[in-house]
Amino acid sequence: MKSPPEFVQLLHKRRIGRVTATDQGSGTRDTLAQLVTELHLLGGTASRAELTERLGRGRSVMGYLLSELTDRGVVTIDRATTSQPTHPTGRHPTGRPSTGRPSHQVTVAPSAPAVIAVHLDVDTVTVATVGLGGRVLTRHEEPVPATLDPLLDTLTARITTHLTAHGRILAVGLAVPSPVRRTDGRAVAALHLGWPAIPLRDLLTTRLPAATAGAAGPDGALPVLVGNDANLAGLAEHRHGAGRGARQLLYLTTAHVGLGGALVSSGRLFDGAHGYAIEPGHITVDPAGAPCSCGSTGCLEVEADHRGLLRAAGRTGLPVHEIAGAATALLEAAAGGDGPALAAVRHVAARLGSGLASLTNLTDPDRVVLAGSLARYHALAAGDLTTSLTARSFLSHADSDADPVGMITTAGLADAALLGAADLALQGLLDDPRGTIDRLPAAATAP
Ligand SMILES: [Zn+2]
Repeated sequence: MKSPPEFVQLLHKRRIGRVTATDQGSGTRDTLAQLVTELHLLGGTASRAELTERLGRGRSVMGYLLSELTDRGVVTIDRATTSQPTHPTGRHPTGRPSTGRPSHQVTVAPSAPAVIAVHLDVDTVTVATVGLGGRVLTRHEEPVPATLDPLLDTLTARITTHLTAHGRILAVGLAVPSPVRRTDGRAVAALHLGWPAIPLRDLLTTRLPAATAGAAGPDGALPVLVGNDANLAGLAEHRHGAGRGARQLLYLTTAHVGLGGALVSSGRLFDGAHGYAIEPGHITVDPAGAPCSCGSTGCLEVEADHRGLLRAAGRTGLPVHEIAGAATALLEAAAGGDGPALAAVRHVAARLGSGLASLTNLTDPDRVVLAGSLARYHALAAGDLTTSLTARSFLSHADSDADPVGMITTAGLADAALLGAADLALQGLLDDPRGTIDRLPAAATAP
C-alpha cells in the first residue's frame, strides 16, 4: 500500500469503546465512528436492528447516535418498518438470516458529506463523487492526455466541477498505477505511463481551488490523498467485494500491462516501511524469462500479464496501446475453444500458480482474490493454475487442513480502484465523523 501515514494510522485503529446513553465523551465518539463504519461496510443502508446488533449497543445508545447523524445530515431514517435488510449487491453482507423483527431503515442521506475519487489508468481517467457505502453519485470518464501538464489541467477541471456540484466534499482520493511514497504522495515509478517520479499530491493540491466548498486541511487546501491503484482496489474488495470477512486477503490484478496486488491483513493494508508494499509483480517465476522494467528477468508481471499471454501465443512487438485489445481477443478465442489460444492461457496460468505459491507461502492468506485477466486465467485453466500452486505450496505439504486452492476466488467489484480511492478519502470521516463534519466550512456544514 502506498498512502499517507495518517491514513495508515487510522486504519490501524480499532474502535472498541463501550458506552451508555449518558456517556457522551470519547467513548461515544468511538461508537459513532464504529456506527458510520458499519453503515459504510453495509453499502450505505441497513436496518436499525442490524446496526444495533453489529455494534452490540443498547437501543437507547443507538437512538442517541442516529439522532446525531441525522442532525448532521449524514443519514435519513425511514420510519416505515422493514424486516428484511437488503444490500446494493443483492446479498446480505453478514450472511445471517433476518430476525424478522420490524425495524426502521437507516440510509445515507443525499446531503451527506462525500468525497471525490479519481482512478488514473493507463488510457482513461475516471473522476467520481462517491458517498458513504461506496455509492457512486456522479461519474465521468475520459481519455488520459499524453503528457503530465494537460492531465493535471484535466484533473483540476473535473475535480472542481464535482466539488462545485456537491458542496460537501471532504477530500480527494487518487488511485494511480505507480508505487506511491507514503510521506508525500509522490508517484515514484509510473513506468507504464512513461513518466518519471512526480510529486502528484503536491502538484494537485496547489492547482485545486481554495477549499471554499469542501473540507480544508491545516494549510487551508482541500486534502488530497494518493495511493497505488492495486492496493486501493484490494482494500475495496476487502471492504465491499469478494474479500469481505477475510482475515488475510491476498489480492492480485492485471489490466493493461503489469501485475499489481495488495495484502489486507486484519482489515488493514500492509504497506511496508515506505508505503511501497506489496509489489507481487516482481517476484521471480522464471529466472530465464523475459526482461522486466524493474531490471530483473522472469518477474511474475512479465510472465503472467497481457504481454506474457501474447508472448506465450507467439505474438511479440505489439505497440503498448494494442496489447490489452490483443490479449482480450486471445482470451475470447481461448474461451471459444481455440487450441493455440488455450495453450497460451494454460502456460500463463501455470506461471501464475507458481507466483501464487511463493506469495501464499509468504503471507498465509485465507482468501486470494484474482482480478482482471487473472480471473480469466483461473476460469479457463484452473487445473494448470492449481497444479502449479499446489506443487510449490508450503501449506499444501505442512497442513493437511490447508486449502490453498479453495481459498481462490475472483473479484466482485467493477470499479475497485475507484472505490478504493474513495475509501482512502473517506477514512477521516469513518474514524472521526463528528470532528470531520464539524471542520467543513460553515456553508457546507449544514445538511
Ligand atoms: Zn520486475
